[in-house]
Amino acid sequence: MSQTTIARVIVKSGRVQPIWFGHPWVYTGSIERIEGQPQAGDLVELQDPKRQCLGYGLFHPTSQIQVRMLSAANESWAPTSFLRPDLALADLVRQRLLQATQIRMRLRLPSQDTDAFRWVHSEGDRLPGLTIDWYQRVAVIQFTTFGMKRLEQVVVDALLSMPEPFRPSTIVEVAAPRFARLEGFDAQTRVLHADPLFRADDKIICKESGVFFEVSPLDGQKTGLFLDQRDNRLTFAAFCQGLDVLDVCSYTGGFALQALRHGANKVTCVDSSEKALAQLKNNAQRNQWTAVECIQSDAFDFLEKLPAMSQDILVVDPPKFAHATKDIPAALKAYRRLNAAAMKAIKPGGILATCSCSQRIDPLSFQRMIAAAAVDAQRSVRLLVLDRQAADHPILPGFPEGDYLKFAVLFVE
Ligand code: SAH
Repeated sequence: MSQTTIARVIVKSGRVQPIWFGHPWVYTGSIERIEGQPQAGDLVELQDPKRQCLGYGLFHPTSQIQVRMLSAANESWAPTSFLRPDLALADLVRQRLLQATQIRMRLRLPSQDTDAFRWVHSEGDRLPGLTIDWYQRVAVIQFTTFGMKRLEQVVVDALLSMPEPFRPSTIVEVAAPRFARLEGFDAQTRVLHADPLFRADDKIICKESGVFFEVSPLDGQKTGLFLDQRDNRLTFAAFCQGLDVLDVCSYTGGFALQALRHGANKVTCVDSSEKALAQLKNNAQRNQWTAVECIQSDAFDFLEKLPAMSQDILVVDPPKFAHATKDIPAALKAYRRLNAAAMKAIKPGGILATCSCSQRIDPLSFQRMIAAAAVDAQRSVRLLVLDRQAADHPILPGFPEGDYLKFAVLFVE
């Protein structure tokens, strides 16, 4: 391959500004024409209608998002300064990983209290399609685009060359089947690089804000942690001292266990997944906490059956209700019903923490949903805290889609 094999994708006039402002997705409808015959995963140059370079990205012929941007025109990196596009890409991936590492060091990650965090956050770290979580010393990778999957070996090599304390002992790939199907590659869960002492059935013991958690990334389903809630767990825990706390959609106990660490009297955890609750009990034991009750139930059922005004403090963190734009109205209805039930159950003067991880629901719609739920519940509420994902899930300012997690703490009159 020579540099001249880089195809050029020319953007329609009127569609340039988002890209200029750093939006990393170029939709099929924004493309005027393509010069050359790029294959899936190839590096392409993006140009505006006047043929000025806008940057470089990875191409996918059948995806709605035909180019995912990797770099902007105003950066020092340019593939034309390399003999081969593959070498240029390897250099860029390494640069981006070093930047991601720098950001985490700024955030004081890892620290004595926290060795579970997001190391690479896809678009937010300007590596669309690549997510890497760090647990203790194990890097857990998810590939969500064809282009990034094709760079797997480049990513592994680059990770193994990172400066300490960021050199992983083991690198594991966890399948992202939804994305793999959409993009056309095989989803696999497997070890990509192993420390000689690592056994595939090992549990990894990691720490988040001083609380121990066991994770087993090779266990099939998602068995890591929802790392994006780390700061929100601390925010919530600060309200919990001396109280009985209810954690609905608890998963493996992220909120509940942090509440115990901050002096909660007792926690009751509700989740529909038996496996998550079994893991939660292990986590409680590992921290030597016993004031933990687990109830396997549907969240709606459970909340709607609670006696009115019976709870001091409650957190509800449901799964993603809206996967696509068409799901938004039904998702908002479901959030509203869930939150109304939760509000009814709170004692006057109590606290409700509520979340939505649906990227399709923007923060303002979330806030309106809360107002509507309060009307349904016939309770008056006030927003004490309105927050988002932890800073190791960075957001590009020109890419509002990256601002996906909503977290609110409400005072319920
Ligand atoms: N709060 C957790 C993360 C929650 S993820 C933490 O801090 O780690 C969402 C959880 O909701 C998952 O554990 C999933 O099993 C659970 N869930 C999904 N649908 C549910 C339902 N209808 N009722 C109860 N739990 C549900």
